[in-house]
Amino acid sequence: MSSLTMVAIYIFLFFLGTIIGSFLNVVILRSEKNQEIVKTPSHCDQCGEKLRIWENIPLFSYIFLRGRCGHCHKKISAINPMSEFLMGLLFVLVFWRFLQIPFFQTAFLNVNTSQWLINFLPVILWLIYTAVLFLISVYDIRNLVVLDGFLIVGFVTSLIGEASLFLINKYNPMVFFNYYHNWLGSASFFFPEIPGIFGNILGLIIGFLFIKSIVWLTKGRAMGDGDPYIAGFIGFILGVPSVFVFLFLAFIVGGVAGFALIISGRKKSKQYIAFGPYLTLGGFLTFLWGEKILQIYFNLMKIQ
Ligand SMILES: [Zn+2]
Repeated sequence: MSSLTMVAIYIFLFFLGTIIGSFLNVVILRSEKNQEIVKTPSHCDQCGEKLRIWENIPLFSYIFLRGRCGHCHKKISAINPMSEFLMGLLFVLVFWRFLQIPFFQTAFLNVNTSQWLINFLPVILWLIYTAVLFLISVYDIRNLVVLDGFLIVGFVTSLIGEASLFLINKYNPMVFFNYYHNWLGSASFFFPEIPGIFGNILGLIIGFLFIKSIVWLTKGRAMGDGDPYIAGFIGFILGVPSVFVFLFLAFIVGGVAGFALIISGRKKSKQYIAFGPYLTLGGFLTFLWGEKILQIYFNLMKIQ
């Protein structure tokens, strides 16, 4: 398998990301309007004309149509193509992150191994987590509400996913599992005898309780009721000790962004802002660079 195949996988994942981003935008819009999600055909929001196939290609239709409806020629919102592009980019980043690990580089390049699909499972799981967090965050930004339904989908997939990885490893020990949990972090990072899944459960409890106590202490002024659940979900998929990096980064990103919004006059200091997107951003940054941040921290603390 050559680097050309690698590029092909990147391109495939980018397009897959834009398609899923496009679908998720539809899910968000129709959840807001309480419309049927699957059966309603795609249409122009202004003239109601049904979209033809070539007008319904994520990202590219917007470019071909120069941002206007092909029927009524009114401007189409740029938010959809932008978030489709973002999802494509995030999918590429997920794969890029896994390729940073030497074990995954060889595992993905070797097409002949029957383990290939199993090796790919963590990547598939992280693509799903990314989609779920995108869904929750965009809905939260638009409506200041964390939708239970989206969160449940996230919790169920992560529970099944992480439990399968744990069981696969238990009955068919593989090298990748150790790599996966060393960089993502787990309780086994400190206590090798503790099974990896407990690191996930510990991450869930820490993430949930930490944000829940802030909601209690501030009487819900700083964050909403849904935020502890988002933090619990991200804590579960990251595990211990990455959950600490995640909480730390979420507060830095949220603080900087909140400060910037107040300075730029877009927000008054007492106005409510959605904290969910900052949790998501903190979680994704931890996924990408948490391992490096932990290494720097342990070096500073002289723990090797
Ligand atoms: Zn139109």
